[in-house]
Amino acid sequence: MLGLHLFLLSLTVTTLVLCLLFSTPIHSLQKPHDQDDEQDTPITRFQRYLRIKTAHPDPDYYSAVSFLKAEAQSVGLQARTLEYAPGKPVLLLTWPGSNPSFPSLLFNSHLDSVPAEPSKWDHPPFSAVRSPDGKIFARGAQDDKCIAVQYLDAIRNLKEKNFAPVRTVHISYVPDEEIGGADGAAKFVASKEFQELNVGFVLDEGQASPGDEFRIFYADRSPWNLIIKAKGTPGHGSRMYDNSAMENLMKSVESITKFRESQFDVVKAGEAASSEVISINPVYVKAGIPSPTGFVMNMQPSEAEAGFNIRLPPAADPDLVKRRIAEEWAPARWNMTYQISELGPIRDYMGRPLITPTNDSNPWWSIFKQAINAVGGKLAKPEILSSTTDARYMRQLGIPALGFSPMSNTPILLHEHNEYLKDTVYLKGIEVYESIISSLSSLEVASH
Ligand SMILES: [Zn+2]
Repeated sequence: MLGLHLFLLSLTVTTLVLCLLFSTPIHSLQKPHDQDDEQDTPITRFQRYLRIKTAHPDPDYYSAVSFLKAEAQSVGLQARTLEYAPGKPVLLLTWPGSNPSFPSLLFNSHLDSVPAEPSKWDHPPFSAVRSPDGKIFARGAQDDKCIAVQYLDAIRNLKEKNFAPVRTVHISYVPDEEIGGADGAAKFVASKEFQELNVGFVLDEGQASPGDEFRIFYADRSPWNLIIKAKGTPGHGSRMYDNSAMENLMKSVESITKFRESQFDVVKAGEAASSEVISINPVYVKAGIPSPTGFVMNMQPSEAEAGFNIRLPPAADPDLVKRRIAEEWAPARWNMTYQISELGPIRDYMGRPLITPTNDSNPWWSIFKQAINAVGGKLAKPEILSSTTDARYMRQLGIPALGFSPMSNTPILLHEHNEYLKDTVYLKGIEVYESIISSLSSLEVASH
């Protein structure tokens, strides 16, 4: 491997000299990121991955997989490409442990990113420009292409130190997390290949932390989409009568608003984090009879509907929420119907809430915590994630899974304009994963 590096380096130097001699004007070599391109370092490997256009709606999954596969080969890991939905590859890397009968470790990362509006960015979102103060700008810099390459470089370093794991270590790269994971992690965890991995513990993505401590997530909130439809007799705009579609939809919205306030008040009073309550937010209202200039104003329409985004924390009782929807928010007596789309599981295969214990009952937890402390890191109080990740699919199988991305002293910029990660934070993250991988893969207890 070292030989390969020397070869690449000498190739680079030769190219550089030839360019200088024959064609390239001097000024183009002065841009800092051009110099970055010429070398093979942890930072340039990260930048190269960031430059692959993995944003929806047409993520370039195959380029991402071929980049990661080449990196895995240079590290000396086994690689397999699996495909559970056409055009949506899963890349699985393996570092075999000396005792393959122990449950293995899985480090997960999603290949895709959300879209970016280039006009709102200071640098093109797939340029991975590094500013003079070390900020690397790119869509996916925080969510979650950083961990994808950090896992690899952590293993690269451990191998150079001749570390040998007892437990087998896997890395999975899955598609479609940003659009719900139905064709990605959901299908992967349901596969024969996943079962054969005998996974004992999963680390998946977390979120940046503006403070000194790393954030850690032990559960997600489960997303539901709710559509409520009201039907009623149409009538003249001037007439007062009961049970028009609009009247009933508005009564429903009123009742939902009251419930929303009851949850939000708990958060405002500081009695719970916003990820610990049920959130329900209106996302659209559709009603009225269109006219060439807007809407017909002297007609009460016969149909009206509204859409809501609901997030349930693990402690919430989904049956209770369903009863509330049926009896209070969209009751049949008001001539209303509703449709709930549950996006992913809400209980594990034993019917338990999807929670990974962060106490001594979970042997992985204490080792994980020690591994962070060993490199001078501190963990914040474990949290429930407000949104959702692929970890819920692993938790559904009863596998402990934590959400963690080692980004302290970093503003939370996922899905925002000018998403960036500082080079120093990125490099520290590699060291953190080295400590985590070496500690957890040495754990002798055959747990799970
Ligand atoms: Zn993500």
